[in-house]
Amino acid sequence: MLTIEKLSAGYGRADVIHNLDMKVHQGQLVCLIGGNGAGKTTTLRTISGMLRPSGGRVLLDGHDLRGLPSHRVSALGLAHVPEGRKLFGSLSVMDNLRLGAFARKDRVRGALSFDLDFVLEVFPLLRERRSQQAGTLSGGEQQMLAIARALMARPQVMVLDEPSLGLAPKLIAEVYAIIARLRAEGRTMVIVEQFANLALAVADHAYVMANGCIVREGPARQLRDDESVRNAYLGGH
Ligand code: ATP
Repeated sequence: MLTIEKLSAGYGRADVIHNLDMKVHQGQLVCLIGGNGAGKTTTLRTISGMLRPSGGRVLLDGHDLRGLPSHRVSALGLAHVPEGRKLFGSLSVMDNLRLGAFARKDRVRGALSFDLDFVLEVFPLLRERRSQQAGTLSGGEQQMLAIARALMARPQVMVLDEPSLGLAPKLIAEVYAIIARLRAEGRTMVIVEQFANLALAVADHAYVMANGCIVREGPARQLRDDESVRNAYLGGH
């Protein structure tokens, strides 16, 4: 479904990520873990078209995404939930959700209201706050809205950057319970996470990054039990 081949990218002349190879199969939850500055966010940005690769390519269902602007990438079915959420703070929860569906081709009434019902059922808290300005939601609520908004695009692949960022433990658990539910429904997802334990507990397959390179990969369960991975790359997390 999503294939990343020899991908390199950076911000100036020097590359930050080097020669990455990754594969995400339909219905899989794949996580990308590694310490601060390993290059995880840069990888997601390159996949979703926010950064141009300096080498290699990204294929979504056979479409080469290389060089496409992010709105084209999202129209092809890849939804990015960025670090820091990037909501429309002055708009209501409902308007943010409707905007999530903006690039969809099947914007017929029935399909949109079906998906709205679905996300409001998954996130009952957003239903309660549907008229509230997004910018006034708490951090956890904003994270949920960001995920819900991405779901409204009915993406083929959803990529989430640090869904636990800045959240209290109880909310992190809630967000991860929702991610586990989406996985059980067969959604295809890529998650970047600094807290490796969280991600490895829900993922099918994992990639470990250090210094801009993939240094290990394997079934999430196998990496979770591997003490050498923890000690070498994850600072014991
Ligand atoms: P963290 O978990 O701390 O967010 P990360 O693994 O997501 O880390 P990146 O954010 O991809 O890492 O950063 C990788 C490297 O790229 C770092 O050295 C960082 O300083 C650099 N970098 C990130 N964003 C930019 C930018 N906009 N301009 C220049 N350098 C950047």
